[in-house]
Amino acid sequence: MEKKDARHSAALMDRRGFLMASAGAVAWLALDGGFNPASAAQPLSLPPLPYAENALEPVITANTLGFHYGKHHKGYVDNLNKLIAGTEYEGLPLEKIIAATAGQAEKAAVFNNAAQVWNHTFYWQSLSPKGGGEPPAALKQKIEAAFGSVDACKKELAGTALSQFGSGWAWLVMDTGKLKVIKTANAELPLTAGLKPLLTIDVWEHAYYLDYQNRRADYVNAVLDKLINWEFALRNAGS
Ligand code: MN
Repeated sequence: MEKKDARHSAALMDRRGFLMASAGAVAWLALDGGFNPASAAQPLSLPPLPYAENALEPVITANTLGFHYGKHHKGYVDNLNKLIAGTEYEGLPLEKIIAATAGQAEKAAVFNNAAQVWNHTFYWQSLSPKGGGEPPAALKQKIEAAFGSVDACKKELAGTALSQFGSGWAWLVMDTGKLKVIKTANAELPLTAGLKPLLTIDVWEHAYYLDYQNRRADYVNAVLDKLINWEFALRNAGS
């Protein structure tokens, strides 16, 4: 009864109220002033895209973004809500659902959909119509310390994205203060390994196939050169 009332009130709150209410609930994965998806209310909602569907053209077309956000990302949200209705996960923040189901074969469907909701929200933020170019100085220093140069970091991100066999993600992460590039398969994400994600590139075929067909390298390199949101990565790095 109490849970239902809370859900009802959440639905009535305006967006600002919703975000403020969510902010307090996301403790498990609070990223020091960086990414913090709205995720406390049920049913879980599809977060708005941070730009227009055509804002990433020509690198990612409105056609790709329309399907990717409007069908794939929305599909994960809808599936997750169906899967958790009436279960112990209903009413939990997204991050709690991910933490509670990670690594358990019998919970794979809930984990996969929850993680994919999180991953896509993080991916949209990892891209910007004004992205690419040089990282801000504070991030550039960290990149040079870890990889030698920004180009070397981009090469490692691209190489890692290309070497992911099948569906998955390439990530720039912080591991106890040091930057690293990693890849994850399917819906897996760095959070469950205790790594702090700074940015990601989606390398599922649905992310690029309409625009690039099999040419994953062209998609990844164009994203790194023109769209990657270094500002977002710096905010997530916490400085
Ligand atoms: Mn995707």
